[in-house]
Amino acid sequence: SLVVTGATGQLGRLVVSSLLAKGVPADQIVALGRDEERLAALAALGVTTRRVDYADAAGLADALAGADRVLLISGSEVGRRLVQHQNVVDAAKAAGVGLLAYTSIANADTSGLALAAEHRATEEAIVASGLRHAFLRNSWYTDLYTGQVPTYVEHGAVLGAAGDGRVSAATRADLAEAAAAVLLLEEPRAVYELGGAAFTLAELAAAVGEATGTEVAYSDLPAEELTTVLVGAGLPEQYAAVLADADLGLGRGELYVDPADLQVLLGRPATTLAEALSATIGA
Ligand code: NDP
Repeated sequence: SLVVTGATGQLGRLVVSSLLAKGVPADQIVALGRDEERLAALAALGVTTRRVDYADAAGLADALAGADRVLLISGSEVGRRLVQHQNVVDAAKAAGVGLLAYTSIANADTSGLALAAEHRATEEAIVASGLRHAFLRNSWYTDLYTGQVPTYVEHGAVLGAAGDGRVSAATRADLAEAAAAVLLLEEPRAVYELGGAAFTLAELAAAVGEATGTEVAYSDLPAEELTTVLVGAGLPEQYAAVLADADLGLGRGELYVDPADLQVLLGRPATTLAEALSATIGA
């Protein structure tokens, strides 16, 4: 079977639907998560579902027993993820899976983003397990930008701390399709750097303006000021700081990747920013 952890999340459910679209029989897919409602929605697709927390080592061992290949989708509880991911790695090792794929971050081995530390440590734990692995080093989700279009338009501004750095953002749907493709490859590579055509945040602002027929400009702020603005807009302090830190990394080019790996896995160019914007605005 193919096991997808975090299948109840936004990326995970797209991986499950990509596997089904690629012809994998539903009874060969096992979807893991915690949220009962979203597990039920997955079960309605015919896939096997198991409710298990990354903190539950015994539950994970049960859920992964008999698995051929596993996709570990990184957890969302920043700061607690290494222990959680290690539990999945140990369960995969005990099950003797043939491939452990892991959704990591762009340039995980060299990235200075605060978010990269747990990804790098998880990659190291996977290497130490000796399991065959495929690191899916995802750049930023385009969806994180398209989801803010109403805010950008309201203020006539995209705020950031990324200077003129370029981000190789890709849609969750494309990154999910690529993850499904890797799970089905006979001989997957150990590392994929995954992102789409890169853009600066000034180019993002221009594209939003173009797509919406409004004036939107990029305003570059010091990271501390961006954090303050995000907190003022209602984000928790720690999350705001992580986002501002990510913008600094973006500015250093650490969310830039060559678009080739994603394009090859998709068998087509990745969805562009302009396409993603028009899909969001049309929806
Ligand atoms: P979501 O927040 O939508 O999904 C997170 C998934 O992780 C859910 O299925 C959730 O399960 C599961 N999860 C979290 N903690 C646990 C836990 N302790 N035990 C079991 N399952 C857990 O995120 P996305 O799908 O959008 O993104 C997937 C991952 O990618 C994120 O978790 C994060 O690591 C990373 N990410 C990447 C970004 C990027 O731009 N590349 C941006 C943001 C995140 P449930 O909901 O059922 O509890």
